[in-house]
Amino acid sequence: MFFFFVGSYAPKLSRMMSSPGRCPNCFTPTVYHYKVQHQLSIFFIPIWQTKSKYLWICDRCKWTGFSRPEEQEITDTEL
Ligand SMILES: [Zn+2]
Repeated sequence: MFFFFVGSYAPKLSRMMSSPGRCPNCFTPTVYHYKVQHQLSIFFIPIWQTKSKYLWICDRCKWTGFSRPEEQEITDTEL
């Protein structure tokens, strides 16, 4: 289909200004708040955008959450 080659539908991520949170998956403080918006473009011109969503995404392991991960006490009782 010709349309398939000229159009694109891709998520657009923009990082919000906020302090990073600690990732519950890989335990590094690399979880940032992102604004996610899907955008339909034809010939690289944005035609239509969805409502923006806000997600917390870990830059290291790609963990994704809807709310800021809680700072968890890391205890050594499991060791
Ligand atoms: Zn992570």
